[in-house]
Amino acid sequence: MPRQSIDHMIVIMVMTMATMLAACHPQPVIVKRSQLLMGTVVSVTSVAPDRERAHRAAAAGLEEIRRLEKLWSTWIPTSEVSQVNAAAGRQAIPVSPETLDLIDRSIHIAALTEGAFNIAVGPAVRAWNISDQGRLPSREELAKIRPLVDLAALRIDRQARRVFLTRAGMALDIGGIGKGYAADLAADVMQRHGALAGVVALSGDIKTFGRMPDGHRFVFGIQHPRREHGVILGRLELENEAVSTAGDYQRYFMQNGIRYHHILDPRTLEPARLARSVTIVAREGIMADGLDTGIFVLGPEKGMALIEALPEVEGVIVDTQGRVWVSSGLRTRLQLDPQVPVVEATK
Ligand code: ADP
Ligand code: MG
Repeated sequence: MPRQSIDHMIVIMVMTMATMLAACHPQPVIVKRSQLLMGTVVSVTSVAPDRERAHRAAAAGLEEIRRLEKLWSTWIPTSEVSQVNAAAGRQAIPVSPETLDLIDRSIHIAALTEGAFNIAVGPAVRAWNISDQGRLPSREELAKIRPLVDLAALRIDRQARRVFLTRAGMALDIGGIGKGYAADLAADVMQRHGALAGVVALSGDIKTFGRMPDGHRFVFGIQHPRREHGVILGRLELENEAVSTAGDYQRYFMQNGIRYHHILDPRTLEPARLARSVTIVAREGIMADGLDTGIFVLGPEKGMALIEALPEVEGVIVDTQGRVWVSSGLRTRLQLDPQVPVVEATK
């Protein structure tokens, strides 16, 4: 055989082997999809061995969030939460295991935060109507609502999976925790559909699993609470963790120079006044989301003490003066903008 054809054969063989190797070890594919769900932009990033699986996992993640929205949204009259609210003072309503879990975990976070996190705030959220026009409720109106914002009047029959708001006018509002739990459940579904790694982001409530195909961790920016959207305070890498931010800058209205925002102190039923934003990093989105809202109400002193006391929970709090409090486990992980004033560690 002439030398040239042998060379040619070798080239073809090498090329064929390369193709075979590529087929055995294909590069993972990244697919990103976004949709409007739960009143916000939901983005899922799916990393899978091939394009089809990456797409399937992303679609399944979004579908899971749509399913949960139908169970929990107070804008959907047939949702389980709407049914529980409509039956307040009258009767118990059967709910799905997911809804029961969400309520149980909310009660747990209420206990951790000394009642600062309270999903019975529904009537107060309605009175302020901040997610729509926003209005200032009168003192008398808030006084009437106060006895309704009481988790002691929420009765749960775990065996029968029934939930009963025992006082007429009570209402659950899962806006402070539902998106974090939805991110957890969507991430589970994506993994069951073959995703090796991924991100589920319901605006500021984010859950990650695994790493990028190049081995890098997923990177996130913490929004600066007083600068335009996209200006960040600091940057953080996450691996198999969730991050969630509660702030006074997303939904609010201004009146006479006062900012009225959507995180209410269950004791006063007024917007909480001790922080500008709270970011929590935890294993689970449900914990990160529930705690960000509760710790926003507690404020930096009590809030940071709670973060330090909880295992596998870290956080960043921006106080009312714009100073940044960073938990001990994040001090080496968080890359803060050098301009940002940091509160010196107390421990
Ligand atoms: P988002 O992710 O939409 O910014 P947050 O996690 O910051 O939500 O929670 C704010 C929402 O939680 C409010 O819009 C309201 O529905 C609900 N909420 C307000 N105050 C409280 C509270 N003290 N405890 C529990 N939920 C609350
Ligand atoms: Mg929250």
